Amino acid sequence: MTHPAQPKASHYINGEYVEDTSGAEIPVIYPATGEVIATLHAATPAIVDQALDAAKNAQKEWAAMSGTERGRVLRRAADIMRERNHDLSVLETYDTGKPYQETSEVDATSGADALEYFGGLAGSLTGEHIPLAGGDFAYTIREALGVCVGIGAWNYPTQIACWKGAPALACGNTMVFKPSESTPLCALKVAEIMVEAGAPKGVYNVVQGYGEVGAKLVTDPRVAKVSLTGSVPTGKKVYAAAAAEMKHVTMELGGKSPLIIFDDADLENAVSGAILANFYSTGQVCSNGTRVFVQKGIKEAFLARLKERLDAGIKMGDPMDPEVNFGPMVNENQLNIVKKYVALGQEEGARLVTGGGYPEKDGFWVEPVVFADVQDDMTIAREEIFGPVMSVLDFDTEEEVLARANATEFGLAAGVFTADLTRGHRIAAGFEAGTCYINTYNLAPVEAPFGGSKASGVGRENSKLAINHYSEMKMVYVSMNDVEAPF
Ligand code: NDP
Repeated sequence: MTHPAQPKASHYINGEYVEDTSGAEIPVIYPATGEVIATLHAATPAIVDQALDAAKNAQKEWAAMSGTERGRVLRRAADIMRERNHDLSVLETYDTGKPYQETSEVDATSGADALEYFGGLAGSLTGEHIPLAGGDFAYTIREALGVCVGIGAWNYPTQIACWKGAPALACGNTMVFKPSESTPLCALKVAEIMVEAGAPKGVYNVVQGYGEVGAKLVTDPRVAKVSLTGSVPTGKKVYAAAAAEMKHVTMELGGKSPLIIFDDADLENAVSGAILANFYSTGQVCSNGTRVFVQKGIKEAFLARLKERLDAGIKMGDPMDPEVNFGPMVNENQLNIVKKYVALGQEEGARLVTGGGYPEKDGFWVEPVVFADVQDDMTIAREEIFGPVMSVLDFDTEEEVLARANATEFGLAAGVFTADLTRGHRIAAGFEAGTCYINTYNLAPVEAPFGGSKASGVGRENSKLAINHYSEMKMVYVSMNDVEAPF
C-alpha cells in the first residue's frame, strides 16, 4: 500500500504535479524508523528546463498584478496553511523526524506567518520621489528581479520554502525551489497551496534533486537571484557560481554561535535558554548557541540544574506521540557526524556530563549530549556539529569572554544572559554576529531580520529588509529645464 506521505509526483511545475522517472531515485526515509516511506526522482535536465521556463513565462504577468492582489494570494495561502496545520505538521514530521509536538507549533505556522507578513507588505512596496535643483526631480521604481531560485536545507523544509517564497512573490518574482533531498515532501505542499490560493501557474515551482540539480539552477541564465540555506562550504560554491553571472544572492549558512551566561543571570532562565539553544529540533538548528560560556561562579550550579532538567524532561519515542519532545537525527549520515564529534570530544579531554548513548532501535537516534570543561581549541568547540551536542566552557571576565566568543569564522547568532541591563547591551554591541539575543535564545519572528555575518552569510531573511534582497531600484531622472551642453 502506498504510504500516506507519498506525493502525487516528484515535482510541481506550472501549477501541476510532474513526474519523470528517468531521474535518479530519491528514497524518502522516515528518520524515526529508517523505513522508506516514499520514492521520488531527481529532476532531469528536461525537468529543470520546464520549471525555469514556467517561472520565466509567469513572471511578467505576476509582476504586473497590483501588490495588493499578489498580497491577497499570499494571505490566502497563509490561511490555508493554518487550516491544514495538522496534516502539514504530520508531513513535516515524516520528512524530518521532528516530534509532532514541535512541528504542530513551529513549522507550517511560521511558514504561514511569512506568507501573511509579506502578503501584508506587498501592497505598499514603492519607490520614492527625490526633489532636485531647479525643479528637476527623480523617482525610483521598485522592480522585481525576475526568476528566483531557492535552495533549502533539511531542518525546516516548510519554513524555508515559505521564508524564501513569500518575500520573492510579494515583490513580483517567481520561484523555482529545490528542497534538500533528505526532506523533499513539504515544499510540494507549499506549491500546491500557493496555486489553490490563486497564484497563477508557474509562479511557484518545486523541483527535486541532489546538489547537482541545485548547481544547474544556480548557473542558468534565466535565473536572476539565488537564495540558499545550507552549510558554509556549499554557500561558498553557490556564491561563487552566482557571482560569475552577477546574480543576486542571499546566503543563510551555518554557525558555531556563542551563548554567554554571567554569574548574575537568572539560573532557571539561563538553563532554559541553553536548552533552546542546543536541543530543539534535536540540535539541527543553524543558529544554535553550541558554545555555552558559563562564568565560573555559577558553573557547577548551571551544570547540575541542566542535567537534572534534561534527565527528567527529555522524552524520546514515536514522534507522532504528542508527549514526545525529542526526535531522531534527520538521516544516518547526520547521526554518524554526531557520533564522530562525541567520540572526538571525549578523546580531546572534555568531560561528558550527560548523554553519549545511542538508543538501540531503528531510525537515527541519539541522546542529547553535554560536555563540560571544553577548551576553545577543541574540535567540538570550533566546528559546526549540527546535532544535540552542547559544549560548556568556563570564563572569568567580560572582556575575555567577548574576545573568545568572537574568535570564530562564523557570525550567525550570539546570546547573553545577565541581570545587568547595560552589560547585556554592551555585549550585544560587541558580538560579531547578525542575530543576537539578550536573556533569551533562538526566537525568529518574521517581523525581525534573521541572518549571519562573517562566513555565516550574506543578506537577511524576514522583516522589511528581505524586500531589498528580492527587488531592485530603478531611478528615473526627470528634467523640467532646457538641456545645457558644453558645446
Ligand atoms: P548543505 O549545504 O549540504 O545543502 C544545502 C542545500 O544545497 C541542499 O539542498 C543541497 O542539495 C544543495 N546543494 C549542495 N551542493 C550544491 C551546489 N553545488 N549547488 C547548489 N546547491 C547545492 O546543507 P544541509 O542540507 O546539510 O543543511 C545543514 C546546513 O544548513 C548547516 O550548516 C546549517 O547550519 C545550515 N542552515 C542554515 C540556516 C540559516 O538560516 N542560516 C538554517 C538551517 C540550516 P542536496 O542536499 O541534495 O545535496
